[in-house]
Amino acid sequence: MKILVANLGSTSFKFRLFEMGESEECQLAEGGYERVANHGEAIRDALVSLKNDGVTTPEEIDAVGFKTVLGRNLSGCVEAGDEVIEALEGFADVAPAHNPAYADGIRQFREILPEARRVALFETAFYQWIPEAGRRYAVPASWYDAGIRRHGFHGASHKFIAERSAEMLGRSDVAELVRGLYQAGPRELERPLRVVSCHLGGSSSVTGIRNGIAISTSMGFSPQSGVPQNNRVGDLDAGALPYAAKVLGLSIEEASQQLSSESGLLGVSGVGNDMRDVRAAALKGNPEARIAVELFVHEVRRWASSMLFELGGLDALVFTAGIGENNPWLRAAVCDGLEEWGIALDADKNEGAGRGEARLTGEGARVQVLVIPANEELVLAREVYQKVTNLN
Ligand code: ADP
Repeated sequence: MKILVANLGSTSFKFRLFEMGESEECQLAEGGYERVANHGEAIRDALVSLKNDGVTTPEEIDAVGFKTVLGRNLSGCVEAGDEVIEALEGFADVAPAHNPAYADGIRQFREILPEARRVALFETAFYQWIPEAGRRYAVPASWYDAGIRRHGFHGASHKFIAERSAEMLGRSDVAELVRGLYQAGPRELERPLRVVSCHLGGSSSVTGIRNGIAISTSMGFSPQSGVPQNNRVGDLDAGALPYAAKVLGLSIEEASQQLSSESGLLGVSGVGNDMRDVRAAALKGNPEARIAVELFVHEVRRWASSMLFELGGLDALVFTAGIGENNPWLRAAVCDGLEEWGIALDADKNEGAGRGEARLTGEGARVQVLVIPANEELVLAREVYQKVTNLN
């Protein structure tokens, strides 16, 4: 089955094409367009190139997958029709860089490839089984009814970590449960498996996973919450926004804009939004960059530790995404001084970890520390494949 995974930004369109089957997973092509004024034109152009390059004709594409961020009153892995478009548009203000682009992209694909199945995998889907108490904010009922609750994000990535870490720990029962989660739902398992998954990249989140199911997340109502992001604030006391607007003479919109594009690593360090630059400046003695790095590590540790009570212990701590995969110093800092809790890194394995999966667990340590590379497009292609196979 040929599956096109579409990654849509307000001015970009990127794609990967996969051949997926029961025992075959193969990426056939990838491409992208920046500074796109019209998604439809970019999509048509991509399809022409794929045909000219002899990769595929449009008619051969069986399904298109969309990694949608969040929808109003809708989540899961679902067919991308009017209901999805409406849900995305209902929360356009919450994810302005993504929701309008995906709503547009889904419409465009419906017109351009009418025969292909369209599937949306919401980034919130993995969190649908978080206990109610973990999803609610203590807001008035009218706020809750308006959709103000903890949604969780990076669901595709964390679900993949749930599956892959279970495999690496010899728990094929959990891996199998996770693989079919969106089709079959959760079920009880006799032996617990408790994982904290740290997706640390351009945007970051920490998720607590028990028996393959997310039970806790650092991400809240919008992708602006939790751990500080590259240029977004992370968690902030709600009282700070109106206060800052007043004393700094900003409108609420201007203040919100600063929180979503001039904050995070960039805002604190003043150096840049890429951890490589911030860390390099910190090593050269830039005090603000040093604080930015320390703040990031502090918040990852705060969130990871907050999950241990809920999980009732820990079997594995996993690092994934650009920052988590590529920075031994960061992993060492997150794990520092936790020997008493069964967490210790093997320094050589940590330093030596290159591209790919790695086990960093120190000798005698109880908790497995793992690196698992993120490949969100492949994860999406797998989910779309399962969904479409189930629909047929
Ligand atoms: P996105 O959320 O944009 O998909 P990624 O998971 O690719 O992000 O992570 C991007 C971030 O990862 C960069 O901003 C940078 O901080 C960090 N990063 C990426 N590659 C490296 C590397 N080779 N060494 C250190 N840090 C890296």
